[in-house]
Amino acid sequence: EKENGEGMYTLQHEDFTMKALKRLEFEHDLRKAVEQDEFELFYQPQYDIQNNKLVGVEALIRWFHPKHGMVSPAEFIPLAEETGLIVPIGEWVLRTACLQNKAWQTAGYEKLSVSVNLSLRQFQKHSLIGDIVKILKETGLDPSYLELEITESMAMDNVERVINKLNELKDLGIQISMDDFGTGYSSLQYLRKLPLHKLKIDQSFIRGINEDHDNAAIVTTIIAMANHLRMEVVAEGVETIQDLQFLLQQNCQHAQGYYFSKPLPAGQFERILLKKEPL
Ligand code: C2E
Ligand code: CA
Ligand code: CA
Ligand code: CA
Repeated sequence: EKENGEGMYTLQHEDFTMKALKRLEFEHDLRKAVEQDEFELFYQPQYDIQNNKLVGVEALIRWFHPKHGMVSPAEFIPLAEETGLIVPIGEWVLRTACLQNKAWQTAGYEKLSVSVNLSLRQFQKHSLIGDIVKILKETGLDPSYLELEITESMAMDNVERVINKLNELKDLGIQISMDDFGTGYSSLQYLRKLPLHKLKIDQSFIRGINEDHDNAAIVTTIIAMANHLRMEVVAEGVETIQDLQFLLQQNCQHAQGYYFSKPLPAGQFERILLKKEPL
């Protein structure tokens, strides 16, 4: 301890200070990003693989930092969540996704549903329902073309409250899906009570599904269970033709992943909207 203790301490201390400073700068930049419109939504297609049809699109946020370039949401969403900045950001995402989807519909493209990821704070906000109703009104998007993605950890809060909130959304005609399904700790008993339309099987189970027998068994089981509970299934992270073939054989209805397309800026996504037969 004595030999290298002090040195270590200094190092760790500096490291800690650097991290704290970086974080502070990052938070400052994120605050500015909200005001200066540095966000953009990218769109990733979702397919009905059994019928070879484009059915939906997931909106995924990107931050174009003036100095550091594109920052991944995996990096800034947690900070946005901690600082509360997720509230204005999340509202911007909802409004932008609804506006864009309405614009595509008005332009005459076949109607799709747009999925928006909700954060914990957004989901817990008392005004959530009112905010969404307002955005739907302002943008003119029919609620049946909006889908909200929640995660198991969000649904763990207070059972009654979560069920009530989801039912209110459902009554508006909005679809609800459980994102990253299989990675959380919620019991099936609990899940069964939630008014969900879809389970999105987490990509960690899909990758290399042909070689990994455990993953294959898990995915097969989730699909069977969802069928029983009359929920739809979306397989996420489909990267290869082998992944797709496995899912087709298992009667999985929907899929999303790099095999079809990476998330794209709205302008480029329109090329996908023009393709009638994706597979
Ligand atoms: P997610 O909701 O699970 O989104 C799927 C992520 O997987 C996206 O990463 C997508 O680009 C990526 N992905 C899609 N297909 C494939 C594939 O075949 N292979 C691989 N390796 N990856 C694939 P992205 O866009 O970086 O987003 C990361 C996470 O950040 C999202 O995970 C979501 O939790 C969060 N996020 C993104 N946009 C928003 C947003 O607008 N609001 C909130 N609250 N969270 C968001
Ligand atoms: Ca998602
Ligand atoms: Ca996911
Ligand atoms: Ca996720």
